[in-house]
Order: sequence, then C-alpha cells, then structure tokens
Amino acid sequence: MTVNMTNININEIIDRYQKANNKIIFLDYDGTLVPFNKDPLAVFPDEDLLNILDKISSNKNTVLVLISGRDYEIFDKWFKGKPYQLICEHGVFIQNRKGEWDAQINEAVEWKYNIRNIFEEFISKFKGGFIEEKPFSLVLHYRACKEKHIDKHIDKVVNELRLYTENTSLTLLRGDMVVEVKPNNMNKGIAAKKYIGEKNFDFIMAIGDDITDEDMFRELPENSITCKVGDKDSIAKYRIKDVIETRELLRKMI
Ligand SMILES: [Mg+2]
Repeated sequence: MTVNMTNININEIIDRYQKANNKIIFLDYDGTLVPFNKDPLAVFPDEDLLNILDKISSNKNTVLVLISGRDYEIFDKWFKGKPYQLICEHGVFIQNRKGEWDAQINEAVEWKYNIRNIFEEFISKFKGGFIEEKPFSLVLHYRACKEKHIDKHIDKVVNELRLYTENTSLTLLRGDMVVEVKPNNMNKGIAAKKYIGEKNFDFIMAIGDDITDEDMFRELPENSITCKVGDKDSIAKYRIKDVIETRELLRKMI
C-alpha cells in the first residue's frame, strides 16, 4: 500500500541516503519536477530546479538520472553538459558518457502512418489536440481540448488504437492527457534496470507521477524507495503530494 510520506519517513530516507556507499536516484520530469502545462515546451527547467539537480548530482557517490517520456532533443538542449544521466522516450534513448544518444531499439516505423490517421481524425474534430512525433513513437496531446467529456471521446480513440495494436509489437500508453503508441520492448523499468545492473547500489530511489513510472517502481529491487507524486493509484511505497513537495524532499537530500 502506498502511504503518504511523513517527516519521519523523510528523516529515515535521508539517514539511509547518508549511510549508503553507492546511490542512484531516478527522477521523472513532467508532473514530478515541474508542473504540467498545456504547452510541453513551456515547462523548461527553472533556476531553482537546475540548482537542486546540480547539487544532488555533486553529492558524494550519487548518480542522478532524469528518466522521462520526453523527446531526447529537448532534453539535450535543456541539460547539455550537466553531470546527470538522461534517459528519454521511456527508455528508448539513453545518453552515453560522451553525451551521445544511443537508441535502444531499431525498428521499422511504418506503423506510424496508421496511428497518425487515427490521431488526425480526433484532432480534426476536437480543437486543441496535437500530435507529437518522436523517432520511435507518436503521441496525441489533448490537454488543451476544451470539449466537454473529452475523456469519452478519448476512450473511443483508445479502443480503436487497441484493435490496431493488439498482437503487435506496439504498446499503448494512456498517460496524463496524452495517448502514446510506441514499440513495447522498452519502458522506464527496463531502462532503470539497465542502470542498476552496472553497479552494486545500496540506495535506490525513484520518483514519478505517471502510469509509465509504475514500470520503474515494479522493476526496481524490493528495498528501493519508490515515490508516487499525486493521488493516482500506484504500487510505490510512498506518496508525495505535488511538485513542490518533491522539490522540498530533494532539497533536504542536498
Ligand atoms: Mg511525469
């Protein structure tokens, strides 16, 4: 069961953190470190956030990993030369030590044509929706749709997509005001496990708000500190209220 994180929990976590020898922290970006915005490009990392991330990654024996569904090009721009590790598109792109991006899958992307048609039909009916294309995935954003009962219309889109993606190597993600279709052989959990495999970490923490972060919570070892941001169902151990509380927790870990 997920419990609300208390000050006692925070003190225990910090105590464990200080005593550990090899530490790794996985942080989701949207909805975890920055609040949501209708325009995904508007939520760039602010001074306060960069300051927190810089300081945590300069803590002794700490690996800091930003793990996001975002397009790698935007993270490349925002976090160029930063000392932390970057994983984008739910694990499809991992930045290596030289700062280059390694694609973890190499698949034909012809499927995009059909998925795009389904998304475009939705957009032609409902103002405010838009499609984001990433190298290996397609995303429908509908946060800005003002239409009443938009979820019902999205249910229809999802049903149609389900028919199309069933028994294929594609997976359908329904996130917070987004629907994404991507190959199913990579997710945040698989990507996080890759990192864990490298070293013997005795402190593992992961914080995230979305359904895609559940893959990460599930794959991490039992003694990991998993934290869900917001009030949605989760398999995480702890629950944090919002972005402000996430930042407060991280600030205490500096
Ligand atoms: Mg998120």
